[in-house]
Amino acid sequence: MSFRQRTIHKTNNNVILNPNKAQVILIQGARGSGKSVCDEKFGELLHDEGHTVLDILSAPNLENCYWAICKNCKQEWGKKNKFERMELHCNCTKRHPILLVVPEYVDFDDYKLGLYNGKYYSKQEWANMGNIEWVTGDPDHIKKNRGTEWIKVRKIPVPKARDANKDYIISQFRDCLLTARSERRILVMNPAFYKITFHWHKTLELVIKNLGKIAIESFKPLTEKDLKKPKSQFTKYEKNYHRMAVCMREFGSVAPSQLKVDQYETLAKKALLGFVRLCRHYNISLIGDYQRQADVFAGIKDQRDIFIFKRSNRDLIPQEWVWLQDDIDAKRRKIIERYGNNPRAWGLANLKHPKIEDLSNEYCYAVFANNHVKLMKIPMPTFHHKQEIDNFENDTGIKWFFTGETTTSIDTATGEKEVAVDDKNEKALYNLIDGMLNPIGKKGMKIEECFAEIMRMEDSGRLATGWKGKKPNAMRMWFSRRKKKEQDKKK
Ligand SMILES: [Zn+2]
Repeated sequence: MSFRQRTIHKTNNNVILNPNKAQVILIQGARGSGKSVCDEKFGELLHDEGHTVLDILSAPNLENCYWAICKNCKQEWGKKNKFERMELHCNCTKRHPILLVVPEYVDFDDYKLGLYNGKYYSKQEWANMGNIEWVTGDPDHIKKNRGTEWIKVRKIPVPKARDANKDYIISQFRDCLLTARSERRILVMNPAFYKITFHWHKTLELVIKNLGKIAIESFKPLTEKDLKKPKSQFTKYEKNYHRMAVCMREFGSVAPSQLKVDQYETLAKKALLGFVRLCRHYNISLIGDYQRQADVFAGIKDQRDIFIFKRSNRDLIPQEWVWLQDDIDAKRRKIIERYGNNPRAWGLANLKHPKIEDLSNEYCYAVFANNHVKLMKIPMPTFHHKQEIDNFENDTGIKWFFTGETTTSIDTATGEKEVAVDDKNEKALYNLIDGMLNPIGKKGMKIEECFAEIMRMEDSGRLATGWKGKKPNAMRMWFSRRKKKEQDKKK
């Protein structure tokens, strides 16, 4: 008699990241549950394994620029008292050089940037060298031995109407990517550097759409022949020379489950859908987080290798994951049945099988491809994780600004002509607000939330509404007037 063999597909159920494989990892969690810490840690681990890492989608608070910032929180932690220690979430001890890719209309204060990047002596260093006189901003204070260039800035063109300069943007972006790889930098893009959403989403679309093409052409595995040494002697970087990892924070904002959020976003969304389906073939891993499963297209969710559940409210967890909660509940019940309904047993249940809604920021449930579930601890990244009170300008001393006209926008539907937001582009603004207040198939924002969001866009220079300093009611009144106008037009 013979037995059947190899009936079980063997997978590694204990390891989330496999540096030798392209993976799609999706992270769900409530606000403040430590999702972006996950993105950062996974990205950092893959970076350390020699992947070229892109952190190209984040809130406009520049949190994804913090790869290049270290505040020595671990050291600071030692000095704090017990109560203060509880507040501290960061353990940073180091930082990573980044390549910050911005549109051509963004300028940096060269001296301030140089100061952060070890190009110029700081006041302290200057004094330590025995100099008495200090002139702030003196460009003659160039260091003999330059320090690490933590933040390297590269400019790429702004997208033009009808894709007129598409190929040029892609070739410039490819150069950036190759620089990031050869200099071992994290490639960072952030919407705060874009004056208007069209420029941002169009750029993002071009990048996402062409990553695969760039990978095929420029990210080929190195061979023994290339390096003239056996594979066993390859460094991690040489071994993973052909691999990329893309981090997308608040992934739900480009992968919404319905179309009508922001019409520009559909550009990036369509590109993303195609990308997620194919990224593994290009040796690209994707790490994305979102608050609700409903935020993300089913077509994208289906492509995941691993789901990570951070702390989530029960109502954010969709029907298809009820089994996971039932599973956890059953395990908890088993412990109570065995040890009795008492505090010690509850404690044990919380320790071994915490409810998803109770998970601490450090822990998560990882669900592997074969639905194997594991409670795991995710360590903090070694660079500084941006806290709410942190501010990029304050933390680095680096100043940046927009050059040229700041109140221009683009005809949203066609992307054809540049017009001022405060006259002809009212319709675009109306559609933007309408998408926030009345999205299809889900609950819209409150008027105050929507106003705050619009003001945030205004602050980052992407909109010019004239409502700065006014109350949400100003927007509400304008919106209802405009709504009437739109409805009259339809009649
Ligand atoms: Zn820190």
